[in-house]
Amino acid sequence: GQDKTLLIQLTRYGVGQYLIVTRDVTQVEKLETTRKDFVANVSHELRTPLTVLSGFLETLADMPPGSLSDEQKQRYHGLMMEQAQRMQAIVADLLTLSTLESSPTAEGGLVQMGQVVRTALQQGRVLSGDQHVFVENIDDGLCVEGVETELASAVSNLLTNAIRYTPRDGTITVSWYATEDGHACYSVQDTGIGIASQDIPRLTERFYRVDRGRSRATGGTGLGLAITKHVAMRHHAELQIQSRFGAGSIFSLVFPPSRTSRAT
Ligand code: ADP
Repeated sequence: GQDKTLLIQLTRYGVGQYLIVTRDVTQVEKLETTRKDFVANVSHELRTPLTVLSGFLETLADMPPGSLSDEQKQRYHGLMMEQAQRMQAIVADLLTLSTLESSPTAEGGLVQMGQVVRTALQQGRVLSGDQHVFVENIDDGLCVEGVETELASAVSNLLTNAIRYTPRDGTITVSWYATEDGHACYSVQDTGIGIASQDIPRLTERFYRVDRGRSRATGGTGLGLAITKHVAMRHHAELQIQSRFGAGSIFSLVFPPSRTSRAT
């Protein structure tokens, strides 16, 4: 099967007597590799916008004063701003992830998810520029226990992705409902580009993107689903992903009955 790394310790504890201890450190090594990969990825992700930004700055520094028209200045400014915002988004998402990781469960209060979903939808329509068809199906009385800010970020991450990865005129259906067996479910269904089955298990890895170029172009940091997965775990919920390449996807957050209630 798989390669294992064994640590072997030989201790002498008497004349002619030895004790051999073997320890399987495969897991320890794996963690260390994950950590190293992560640091390498963060550096790479930040270096790209930084390189572009310093490139612009150098070009500007080399220009004789007064050689740029107001229009050109504005264009340069816009392009540099974009790179700075990109770095800000990455750093903000990394901070969110590390905060989420530092405590296991989310203690909060009763969250009116219907309201949270409606707010996300309003922002989603603006982001989409009304280029998509939105269908909503919201059970307003259905609540879950949790931290509202965290839930709001999970809700809007899934919606933002649906908008990003669905061509204009596509349909995005947002639902918040109780299932027959008492679970509460938030789901976002899109008629977008879809995901090949071999990519699905890797989507919640940090910085994993199926199409790097497309994700960057639409402002993605590659951390949204990693954050969403963490928020789900902290709320004892499950993040479910169903997708068909070229046809569309359904991303759902399913909350257990024990964390679900109904406002009266
Ligand atoms: P990003 O910031 O790149 O969107 P995410 O962690 O939110 O990062 O998502 C990871 C990847 O999963 C995306 O880059 C994209 O390839 C894929 N993905 C996420 N949501 C969808 C969707 N609704 N349709 C198709 N692909 C998606």
